Amino acid sequence: MSLQVHNTLSRTREEITPRSGEGKVLSLYTCGPTVYAHAHIGNFRAYVFEDLLQRHLRERGFIVRRVMNLTDVDDKTIRGAHAAGIALADYTRPFKEAFFEDAKTLRLLPAEAYPAATDPEQIARMIAMIGILMEKGNAYQAEDGSIYFRIASFPDYGRLAHVDLENQRSGQRVASDEYDKEAVADFALWKAWVPEDGAVGWESPWGKGRPGWHIECSAMATGLLGQTIDIHCGGVDNIFPHHEAEIAQCECAAHGEQPFVRYWMHCAHLMVEGSKMAKSAGNFFTLRDLIEKGWTGREVRYALISVHYRGALNFTIEGLGAARTALARLDAWHERLLETAGSETASEVPNPATEGFFSALDDDLNISGALAVLFETLRESNRCMDEEKLTPVQACGLLNWLGRVDGVLALEADTVTTIPSEVEELVAARAAARFAKEWKKSDEIRDQIAALGWIVKDTKDGQKLTKA
Ligand code: AMP
Ligand code: ZN
Repeated sequence: MSLQVHNTLSRTREEITPRSGEGKVLSLYTCGPTVYAHAHIGNFRAYVFEDLLQRHLRERGFIVRRVMNLTDVDDKTIRGAHAAGIALADYTRPFKEAFFEDAKTLRLLPAEAYPAATDPEQIARMIAMIGILMEKGNAYQAEDGSIYFRIASFPDYGRLAHVDLENQRSGQRVASDEYDKEAVADFALWKAWVPEDGAVGWESPWGKGRPGWHIECSAMATGLLGQTIDIHCGGVDNIFPHHEAEIAQCECAAHGEQPFVRYWMHCAHLMVEGSKMAKSAGNFFTLRDLIEKGWTGREVRYALISVHYRGALNFTIEGLGAARTALARLDAWHERLLETAGSETASEVPNPATEGFFSALDDDLNISGALAVLFETLRESNRCMDEEKLTPVQACGLLNWLGRVDGVLALEADTVTTIPSEVEELVAARAAARFAKEWKKSDEIRDQIAALGWIVKDTKDGQKLTKA
């Protein structure tokens, strides 16, 4: 089966194909964080979904050129810097750094580029794009000096979000970066400087000001990936007005008839007790909050990845607990396969159904189907190992398959690097206790080891240590 995804624009499932002349190369643009606070795990649901997409495309032989922007100037970042009484760049810098650390903790593949909206090169692109829109009559300067996009000049406005604009093009204007479908209006491309902007502002042919949020993504996406982008992702809240506005700006500024984006993909929100997890609602957890409570990045990744990206996902601590249990099963199985394979290098996958893992993902990233294949394979091979029927060659085949699976899921256990000497001493003391058949003492030492964050297991080759 070919790789198919649900396209928000057509509302149908479509096969992903590269453009002619592009070989196997696909461009992917993903709206990145607005760096006015630490990203919460709702934001990371979007980034983890995009990571799964990127990894599966790679598994299917595509070369993915991915760009993720950093929104470091908009209404929210300016407000934050103003409240903190510091320069915008000083305010956003720690949030940018934190974002990259969190992305690493969640094992997100790096993008090829992370353009920031305030890069002089990007500001120049935005100004050039607004200039084209002015020339073509798609934009105008209002009395306040700001430049607005004239939505009446683009009859397709509303197509992505399926908004009927017949009665809405009243010539109203909105300066805010975010607005409702109920208030469709001409939106700001360039906002004339006002005293609240303080030191934030750039010179332009229309006076000093700053870009609107939507033009930032349009200019950075087309500037780095070209006039047509293959796949563009974000959360569903980005569909309107952000992505609708991106289409309007790019297609009006473009030469020719090509669409701005071929496949639009949006993930559903991460919810908390029936509401969208959002900074403004105060119902959010950052990754740091969860790490502090003893959860690992891998557990959070599992919890976010294991529900279909377009399905409702309610965040709960029980959900993280289920992730921990599932990962412990995978780790134990992995270890058992390693033991069974021994030094064998020849490999044969015992169950041809394992390919079903990848074909499930070909079906609009059907993760439940893929995980079902993974856990069914685990159960079946564990049964074979119980009966000592799995050969080293087969175990080796399953390990190779698991390596491919992990190229997509990125859920493998952290490799044990250095064992603290305190733990090593306890392991030695426990070996002595076991040799002396002092079982109670052995159990007590095991608990002491556990308290230091390590799990000790007894195998036929002696004690094995893993990190808790
Ligand atoms: P922002 O920093 O608000 O621009 O959001 C960055 C990304 O996170 C966007 O793609 C949003 O659509 C996405 N996002 C925000 N909140 C959630 C949520 N609760 N669940 C899933 N994605 C979200
Ligand atoms: Zn964007």
